[in-house]
Amino acid sequence: MTTFKIAAMTLFAVVVSLSLGLAGSGADEFAAQREKMVAEQLGGRDIVDASVIKAMQTVPRHRFVPGELRHLAYHDTPLPIGHGQTISQPYIVALMSQVLAVAPGRRILEIGTGSGYQAAVLAEMGATVFSIEIVPELGRQAIDNLQASGYGNIRVKIGDGYQGWPEHAPFDAVIVTCAPTRIPEPLKDQLVEGGRMVIPVGEKYAQQLVLLTKQKGEVHQEKIVDVRFVPMVDRQGKTY
Ligand code: SAH
Repeated sequence: MTTFKIAAMTLFAVVVSLSLGLAGSGADEFAAQREKMVAEQLGGRDIVDASVIKAMQTVPRHRFVPGELRHLAYHDTPLPIGHGQTISQPYIVALMSQVLAVAPGRRILEIGTGSGYQAAVLAEMGATVFSIEIVPELGRQAIDNLQASGYGNIRVKIGDGYQGWPEHAPFDAVIVTCAPTRIPEPLKDQLVEGGRMVIPVGEKYAQQLVLLTKQKGEVHQEKIVDVRFVPMVDRQGKTY
């Protein structure tokens, strides 16, 4: 009798842990795709910052793309998010996060919230993120995406990011995910001494990603890689 009871209890325990395991994987059916993305697209390239890799392993990118494109969320490509805009390729999100040298507690300004995914990656790394999006529908959608994924330490404002966010300046870092033809002065001004800004600059769809660092009040510039971002526009849709 006792043996039977123990056997029954063991069976019960096995069933419970099996179903918990299934519930776990069901809760994030994309975890395996995310692991693959990190191994192949980041590990195979020059992403070495452990905190970037951990954040990319954690943030549910599929929640930031339109439902009908969810199966492509972890592919090595940018994807359309509506209103002619795109969520950047995973590698570019990782590269920009690595270049910024994010550390917990840093205050970061993002121009171009888009889907909210880049902001989520920075928040996952422990930063406090302020993000500005010019297309109201995208800004509202990003707020929903971020709330659904549990990212509370992100403030999103709908507006033109060219002027930065003076009320919250200065920032330890600025990340710009739309491309102006020249670097906006207000964004340089809103960087702390020793601060870093990563920004694509150039003509439509043929830009250079550059890193600016502010040292002793002077801004130094270094090229990282050629990129293709959507243009930074004003409220009339004219490229800056
Ligand atoms: N970081 C985003 C990618 C956004 S694509 C993500 O992770 O999904 C670039 C975004 O910049 C677009 O949503 C576009 O509407 C926005 N944008 C363009 N010009 C802008 C401006 N002047 N101020 C704020 N956002 C701008």
